[in-house]
Amino acid sequence: MTEKELYTLVEELSKVYFKRSFIDKVCFNNRLRTTGGRYIPAKRVIEINPKYLEAGMEEFKGIIKHELCHYFLHIDGKGYKHGDKDFKQLLKETGSPRFCNPLPFQKNEYHYQYVCKSCKQVYKRRRRVNVKKYRCGKCRGVLQLMSTSKD
Ligand SMILES: [Zn+2]
Ligand SMILES: [Zn+2]
Repeated sequence: MTEKELYTLVEELSKVYFKRSFIDKVCFNNRLRTTGGRYIPAKRVIEINPKYLEAGMEEFKGIIKHELCHYFLHIDGKGYKHGDKDFKQLLKETGSPRFCNPLPFQKNEYHYQYVCKSCKQVYKRRRRVNVKKYRCGKCRGVLQLMSTSKD
């Protein structure tokens, strides 16, 4: 999906669920990790995590709707934060998910792959490992990060 296609999708969802036009900026942000998206009030920018495309289109649209709730309330000068009454109300009205990160990935979890420099044993870890602290379980050799991948 290109950013242009993303914009088109955001426009569409704005019309369908909010009956309004989206007139600001939306972009992908690869650096977002566990969050599906965020809204930056100072810049009036919605950032979307492209990794969440793999969560499926419904989830992906949910993230956009959630961010649009922040957005429209903010430009209207209403309570746009998670704890605000206006925000909770609009989430309900538009059927948007409560959180920016509606699901932890089940199938598409990130893995870090480490290889022992000595015996070449491969280790897959869900989280980053401190290689200064953790050594190979077989030979106590030094581990080296090979790749980060999904499976
Ligand atoms: Zn949010
Ligand atoms: Zn080893």
